Parts: sequence; C-alpha cells; structure tokens
Amino acid sequence: MFESLTDKLGQALRNLRGVGRLSEENMEDALKEVRTALLSADVHFKVAREFVDRVKTQCVGQDVLKGVSPGQQIVKIIHDELVRLLGEGSTELSAARPLRVLMVGLHGSGKTTSAAKLGKLLKKRGYKPFVVGCDIYRPAAIDQLEILAKQEELGFYADRASKDVPAIGAAALDAARAAAADAIIFDTAGRLQIDADLIEEVKKLRARVNPDEVFLVADGALGQEAVNVAKTFHDALALTGLVLTKLDGDARGGAALSIKTITGVPIKFVGTGEKTADFETFHPDRLASRILG
Ligand code: GDP
Repeated sequence: MFESLTDKLGQALRNLRGVGRLSEENMEDALKEVRTALLSADVHFKVAREFVDRVKTQCVGQDVLKGVSPGQQIVKIIHDELVRLLGEGSTELSAARPLRVLMVGLHGSGKTTSAAKLGKLLKKRGYKPFVVGCDIYRPAAIDQLEILAKQEELGFYADRASKDVPAIGAAALDAARAAAADAIIFDTAGRLQIDADLIEEVKKLRARVNPDEVFLVADGALGQEAVNVAKTFHDALALTGLVLTKLDGDARGGAALSIKTITGVPIKFVGTGEKTADFETFHPDRLASRILG
C-alpha cells in the first residue's frame, strides 16, 4: 500500500553498505529519512524527534550483524522500537462485569459507530450489551445509535426529552440493570473542536456512571492536533484507552504514536470500515508497519 521504509530510505541505506559499526555520523542521513517518514505519517514533530533520538541511542556503537546489511539492521531496530512503544501497556478490556465504557472524542471521529461496533464485539464474547445515546445536541446521533442497536440486537437507552446528561447516564444504568445487561456503552457528544462546556458535561457524566473504561475515539487521520486533543481529554477524564478509527482509508495512523507517547494511554481497538463488523483489537506490529510505510 505504501512505499516501504526501506525503499524510501534507499540512498541513505545504500551509503551504509560495508559499514561495520553504526555511528551517529554514518546513520545521520538514514535517521533524517526516518524522521521525514514519521512526519508524513502525521506523527507529532516532538514525538518524531524523540523517537529518532531513541533509535539513535540504540543503534550507535552496534556492530553490524553478519548476514544483514546495516540498512536492514537499522530498519529492524526502528520497527521493533515502534512496536514496543505502540504496544506498551496494552491490556485487554477491563474484566469488570457489568462493564461500563464511556466513549468520548471529537465530532465525526467515529464515536457512535464505534460504540455499536464495541457492542457487537462484546456480544460475540458473551456479554449482553446495552448502548446509551448521550448526545443531547444531535438527535440524529441518537437515531443512528438506535438503528445500529436494533441491527445488532443490542439493548438501547436514550431520553430525547432530557438535557441533563448525568441524569440520563444514571437512568440508563437502571434501565441496563433491569434488562440484565452486563456491558453498558455510553456514546457522548462531541464538537469539531475541544469545547470546555462539553468536557465539563462529560466529566459530570463520568462521575455519575463511574466507568471501567474511558475510550478516546480518534480519527486515524488526525494530524499534529492529535496531541492537544488527547491531552485535553486525558487531563479532564483520565482516559483508559484509545480507539483509532478509519484505518481503512489512506491515513497512516501516526496520531496513535503521538497520543500513546504523550499520554501513555494504551491503544485498544481500531476501526477498519463503516460496517459494525469492521472493528479489531489492536495489533502493534500492524500499525508499526503502516506508520513506517
Ligand atoms: P461521531 O460523530 O464521533 O459519533 O462519528 P460517527 O460514528 O457518526 O462517524 C462519522 C462518520 O465516520 C460516519 O460516516 C461513519 O460511518 C464513519 N466511520 C466511523 N468509523 C469508521 C471507520 O473505521 N472507517 C470508515 N471508513 N468510516 C468510519
């Protein structure tokens, strides 16, 4: 799909041919190319710089192994380091039962779709899921969630007459209990930009429903602003995981590396299409290959 990192590094790696030991000097061009590759995958510039410095520290002074080219050795170190960083701290979903999950994020990131996708996945795992529409500003979002819930045979709750989001959350928990549901997924409102009032509202909802997981849903194509978005949500809501959406498109998903590095929040799931089945648990090696191209 993408030009491979080895191709892109082309000349820089060829110049390393015959080198017996990696040094800061002989790797300079190659590392510059790595930084460019990360930036073009939308990794935040500070994160890209930090990553390259880390790789440099690992490489400098290493003897080139027999049977591999210096280039191959560098690419492997880069790939392994990226897999380690992306996967670090990744745990499966909380084992709490009933399980309460809050989905937060910017408008259009894929929250509503991902709430239904997660419901479908949990149903497959034997849960009895229940989705809750808390986006009081967009009736269409609640309608969309209801349609998806019907389609996937998930429990559903919304109160279209109420503007009190924490109260909706509490009533939803009662409804879920009455329906003997054991996985309750709250879809919340989002705006195109981070909005203090909205964050306040979700904070109150969080306090009321006491979720086991708080997932930031982020568009895989989110660029340099990913860091600010993630930091703001994390500071306000103590995120427990990231859901990276729209990886079926052209996005390289560098935002995930930025978010993971800056907040430490583990990546849990990825969205790979518009259908409810297009949802997977996170594989660091796949995303690393995608980011590096
Ligand atoms: P919300 O505003 O955050 O609730 O976002 P929605 O769930 O309404 O999604 C916004 C748009 O993105 C919709 O058209 C979804 O079908 C689409 N979408 C969500 N997740 C994915 C995905 O993983 N891949 C693709 N291609 N589209 C997605």
